[in-house]
Amino acid sequence: MASQSITTTLTLPSKICSKAQFGFSSKPLFFKVVSAFQTKSCVAIRAMGSSASSSSHNSDSSSQDAGKMDYSSTSDAEWKKKLSGEQYYVTRQKGTERAFTGEYWNTKTPGTYHCICCDTPLYESSTKFDSGTGWPSYYEPIGNNVKSKLDLSIIFMPRQEVLCATCGAHLGHVFDDGPPPTGKRHCINSASLKLKPK
Ligand SMILES: [Zn+2]
Repeated sequence: MASQSITTTLTLPSKICSKAQFGFSSKPLFFKVVSAFQTKSCVAIRAMGSSASSSSHNSDSSSQDAGKMDYSSTSDAEWKKKLSGEQYYVTRQKGTERAFTGEYWNTKTPGTYHCICCDTPLYESSTKFDSGTGWPSYYEPIGNNVKSKLDLSIIFMPRQEVLCATCGAHLGHVFDDGPPPTGKRHCINSASLKLKPK
């Protein structure tokens, strides 16, 4: 069984393995998952040189604004229908796109980056900076529209995951090696964003 071999060959934390097993039965997708995990390891190495965001940073803060639509009951099947394969993998399965391959890593167009899932405005282009990582990077989100959560999916490498506060979409991670004025680096997957030019 393919899912069995994922567990044995990758020796990933069981939390990830069960995620990887979910919904992936065909062979091409299996390999896609494996290569995605390899990418994730590279991210870990890259981020290793810098300090991961401290746990005091807004951990598990619930910043959902009142009056916003409730996406908690939206099923996986519904998200799958609404999103492309890559968008679904990144936002709903906490995947990571390969560096320098996403739509926005080098984009300088003025505008607002919205959540691909629920259209909430997440980042202004004015806070985007060239991090050299191959992922779109921002030093500040819009208001409380993103939230962060401790991510222990890589052993010995605690990170702060960044999620859309409205729909819970996985966006990327936040680190403490960003530029002024915040010193934060929101390292975000292009696949989770939709740029609306000004
Ligand atoms: Zn969202």
